[in-house]
Amino acid sequence: MKVHIHRGQNQIGGSVIEIFTDTTRIFFDIGANMDDDHAAVVPPVEGLFCGKRKVDAVFLTHYHADHAGLLGKMLSGIPVYMGKTAYEIFKVGETYRNRITAFRPQFVSDQKKIVIGDITITPFRCDHSAYDAYMYLAEADGERILYTGDFRSHGRLDFEKLMNALPEVDTLITEGTSLSRDLQERSVSEDALIDMGKVLLKDRPGPVFVVMSPMNIDRLITCYQIALQTERTFLIDPYAAQLAKAAGRETIGHPVPDPGKDPSIRVFWTDGKMIPARLRGYGKAGISMRGIRKEEKFLMCVRPGMKQYLHQLSGMVNFRGGTLIYSMFAGHLELPYFDGFMKFMEQKGLERHVLHTSGHAAPEAIDQLILKVKPKTILPVHTENAGWFLRYEPECRVIL
Ligand SMILES: [Zn+2]
Ligand SMILES: [Zn+2]
Repeated sequence: MKVHIHRGQNQIGGSVIEIFTDTTRIFFDIGANMDDDHAAVVPPVEGLFCGKRKVDAVFLTHYHADHAGLLGKMLSGIPVYMGKTAYEIFKVGETYRNRITAFRPQFVSDQKKIVIGDITITPFRCDHSAYDAYMYLAEADGERILYTGDFRSHGRLDFEKLMNALPEVDTLITEGTSLSRDLQERSVSEDALIDMGKVLLKDRPGPVFVVMSPMNIDRLITCYQIALQTERTFLIDPYAAQLAKAAGRETIGHPVPDPGKDPSIRVFWTDGKMIPARLRGYGKAGISMRGIRKEEKFLMCVRPGMKQYLHQLSGMVNFRGGTLIYSMFAGHLELPYFDGFMKFMEQKGLERHVLHTSGHAAPEAIDQLILKVKPKTILPVHTENAGWFLRYEPECRVIL
């Protein structure tokens, strides 16, 4: 087997990784660059994006755009594999962005082998800020290559169980995001965030707004638990409600919020109309601005796109003395879109706090993985600090 990293080696995101033998050609992730502004830059990979189709399969580790963003640029007819739940969530995200999900993937599940030509692929479910993410093990010619995708050890999935399941490999293609940009970010568990949120909000008066991405289902669960445990009504918009529904009802530690089951979850409509809420099956869970005004305590999941709605809401609900929690990657705050929104909310009298943990493996988790799978060769990807891996020489060959 041979590896060709078409893109995503000394950068975070835009991953396009090829594994091939004399007769079989597969790709792990076909991601868009993080900083492509409007049109995605497509690497000229023959048989995948241009020329005559000549790829046997594309395996997606997860639905983040830096791993799946070039799906629409791929030549038609190439089989795509990903997690079923991941696909359901991806579809909701695409619909929300007014994009059509044209491809119909085949589904992978934890440790269920798939044979493509002379390569056997084993998916291993892992924890990441995208739900239903996988690492992939490729085996051919008596050789093993493991590609991690994005992962972390401090999520809700059992990392020790994953470590025990993984075999020793010849080549490890691993992410190393936290080795540079996330060094400032803490790697506490999602459940620790719940406890921190409870302490923060225990005696705080007024409304609570959490700036977060509902595509991060784990964080949605965390916010729901904070609301539940501090006796606040949990307010989400239909997009978050649909993503929660797409995530299914699998319970890993805590349940995914289900407005149909828990009356303390309410769905608010940012266009102000209540009729769609009833029509689309949220029934009694739908809540208007007037309804929100009557709520004594609430925790609302928000995004910068809701600015206009929140401006209107601030005319009905007193924001002063309330809490604004930022629960996303700190780097987004460099973008005027996020920074402007935070300042806009602060000007309404909210006190700003941060409650976040990284979606990526801390250095200790990467060490643990390397010690477990004992690679002969390490190929760092999805990192701006590949040199960190040189500590594993001379036992391992590190390809920078
Ligand atoms: Zn990524
Ligand atoms: Zn990711």
